Formats: sequence, structure tokens, C-alpha cells
Amino acid sequence: MASVQVVLSYAEKQFPNFVEELQDFVRFPSIGTDDQYKKETAACANWLAKHLEYIGLQQVKIFSTPRHPIVYGEWLKQPGKPTLLIYGHYDVQPVEPVAEWSFPPFKPFVQGDYIYGRGASDDKGQLFANVKALEAFLKTYKQLPVNIKCLFDGEEEMGSPSLANFIQTHQNLLKANVAVLSDMAMLSAEQPSLTYALRGSLSVELEVKSQAVDLHSGNFGGAVHNPLQVVSEIIAKLHDQNGRITIPGFYDQVKTYTSAERNYMRHFGPTDKKILEDAQAYNGWGEKGFTAYERTTIRPALSVNGIVGGYQGTGVKSVIPAKAGAKLNFRIAPNQDPYVVEKLFRKYMQEIAPPSVAVNIRAHLHAKPYELNIRDPALQAGKLAFQKVFGKEPVLTRIGGTIPAVSLFKEKLNISTILLGFGLPTDRIHAPNERFYLPNFKKGIKTSIWFMTALSQKANLSGSVVPRQLQKTSSFT
Ligand SMILES: [Zn+2]
Repeated sequence: MASVQVVLSYAEKQFPNFVEELQDFVRFPSIGTDDQYKKETAACANWLAKHLEYIGLQQVKIFSTPRHPIVYGEWLKQPGKPTLLIYGHYDVQPVEPVAEWSFPPFKPFVQGDYIYGRGASDDKGQLFANVKALEAFLKTYKQLPVNIKCLFDGEEEMGSPSLANFIQTHQNLLKANVAVLSDMAMLSAEQPSLTYALRGSLSVELEVKSQAVDLHSGNFGGAVHNPLQVVSEIIAKLHDQNGRITIPGFYDQVKTYTSAERNYMRHFGPTDKKILEDAQAYNGWGEKGFTAYERTTIRPALSVNGIVGGYQGTGVKSVIPAKAGAKLNFRIAPNQDPYVVEKLFRKYMQEIAPPSVAVNIRAHLHAKPYELNIRDPALQAGKLAFQKVFGKEPVLTRIGGTIPAVSLFKEKLNISTILLGFGLPTDRIHAPNERFYLPNFKKGIKTSIWFMTALSQKANLSGSVVPRQLQKTSSFT
């Protein structure tokens, strides 16, 4: 392939048009979680599919799912070169609280260095950076440096409920050597970062029942075990005084890390102070012996997301509710398995739930943790790409969150995912007044161009052939 410079300068020249097109994309209120917007979400999928055709992708298809469509497109004319699966999502978060927006969320506009609108950063803008990189190649050289398959989800913000089944039933269609996902923030505009590890997730709902109907707390208070009280007693038994989760066997699988890696995390990762500042928290809390960064990345966590039950209206009501519940979420650390965690949790509940009540447990969303070998050649390609565009080696970061697609790709397609995030921590994703930093949109396109170029130089992505300039020893093993 001829010079990358030609491709880069196409992106540079066309950038004002790209920004216009991104505004068209953001204009769709594709709120996947809200059925009211089903039509608009479908219209957004249509628009995206047409756009993929316009830039020169082939076999562009819209696959319907029980909820929102999946958009697919491919370009496979580089036999012998690796195949890259580009994943992103065109659905967006709801806009509530509406009153806190200082502009209509779906009337995107540019002001200064930012494009404003719901989805501008998460994930339409970042998805579009990859799409525009493809366009730059296809419009200049009529070919791509690698084979490409695009998979764009319309249900990411609701946990990608249709994705597992779709991947399972389209394993051949989606067969690839590696995946890329641009849906996260870098450390700052000056310091790119590359996420190489995520925690898994398991959500459980606990329901406690003590009698058939709500009771008068005067007539029956003292005679029955109040389910809200039981829920509180159970929750109080989930952690010990050192911030550790008390479920027997819970930590058995958790990976332990070398001091080299922990030192790297201490050196390049956020400090406790920074994390607490970001949280706007008065004080820190958590497992003793670990930094806040470690506690949110290489250690598991158990959070109470909600407690349901009893009278919530104004004033008072003398009632013993018939049932109460709690919504809990585990963040699963590297090497842990969400199904094993569920089993241990159920066993522990059997042990500690009092015989006075009936306890019912429902588990949702078993996402495995993800950790990429830092020597992975595709990760090295990502590092090189960031370095080319930002003039700085990216910091390797872990995040405490979960991206279901990443664990699904590993599980069902046996491929790694490179997380090339172009967002900024100040993008206000999921919040009012979302925005995307335009210089990062442009640099994102260029990073994607370099990433594909670097990937094409690899003979074997799953193995050992790494171009010489990519063989750099890392700061830890
Ligand atoms: Zn997202």
C-alpha cells in the first residue's frame, strides 16, 4: 500500500464534512432503552447502514433482533491479511434529567473545540472515528490495509441483550483475528491511554418474603420477621470490617499480581486522592491493603445498587411489607468466574437467610473479566498508533467497568479486543450536556488509520510475528 500520508491528508481535508456528518448521526434520538424511540433507533440504524455503503463497505446488512437492529458491513479484499472486527454502538443513553441540559440533546451543534449532543462521545463520535478512517482509505486507495467487519450494536446501553445470541448464530460471519472498540475515555487530551483490562460483572436480585400480605405494624409488629429488616441484616453480613466480601471462597480465584505490575499501576494510575476527587466523595472506603485504583480494577467489589420495599410515599404508614428486595452488583476481578461467584453467593444466602422468611435470588448478566497480555501484537499496534498521532506512548490502564461485547468476543469468537478510546473524562457521557472534543475526533480518525496500517504488517496476530519496530519491552510483565 502506498503512503499513509495520503490517507491522513484526506482525513485532514475532509474533516469539516466529517463533523457535519457526525451531527446528522447525533440528530437521531436513538435511545435504545426507551420503547418510545424504537422507530428513531431503527431510522438511525438505516442511516448508519447507508453511510457504510456510501464509504464503500460491502455486504451491508441490517439484522433485526428482538429489540434494536444490528448493523453489519464488511470489506474482505486482502487475503492473507488479518481481519479486524470493528465494534461500536449507535444507541444512546436516555437524556433525563432533561431540565439540566442547556440545549436540546438531539440538536447537535459545534461550539469552540466541541460538538455537543447526546451520543456525541458515547458512542457515535468514537464509532465514527473508525468509520471515517475506513472512508479515508477507501476514497484514496480504494482498498483497506486489512480486512474489515463492522458490527454496530443498537442495545449497548441496555447491556447488549441480543448480542450474545447474534454472535453465537453468526460465528462464521464475524470470524476475525482481533476486534477494536472505541468507546472510552483517555486519561486527558495530552495523555492517551490504552485500556487492557476490564472487570466482569454479575447482577443479582434478592427477594425476601415473610407473609402473603402487608400487615399492620401495630397488630403484628413483633410477631413476624420484617422482610426489609431481613434484607438489611443480609446486606450487613456481606462485608467484614476490613472491607472484604465475606462470602466463603469468594477470593479463591482472584488473581494476585506481581509487585512490578502493582508498581506500574501506582506510578501511572490515578492516586487515591484523584479517584476520590472524581467521585466527589468525602472519604474513601474499601478492602484494606490496596489502593483505590487497585480496589476498582484488580480486586472484586460488591455494591448494593438498590433496596426495594415498604412505604415510600409522603407521611407515615404503619406497615410491615410482605416482601422486600435488594439489587446487588458484583464486579468480577481477573480470573474470577461470574457463574462460580453466583454459586457461592447462593450458597452463602442459604447459610445466612433466617428460616422465618423465603428468599428468592435472580441473577442477570454474567460478564467475564477481561485482561489482555500486554505483549499482544495487536495491543502493540494500538500503542504504536497512539504514539504516531499523539507523539506520546499511551499509558496502559485498567478500568473497573465492564463491556459485555469484549467478554463475548473472547468467549464466542476467541479474539481479543483492543480498546482505542478517544473520549475524554470531561465528555459528560451518560449525563446532561454531553460533548465530544473535536481535536480528539480528528486524532481518533488518524489513530485508527495508523492502527489498521500497523495491523496489516503482522503476519500472525494470534502468535509471534511482530514487526521489529513493535518489539519493545514493556514496563512490566
Ligand atoms: Zn458506550
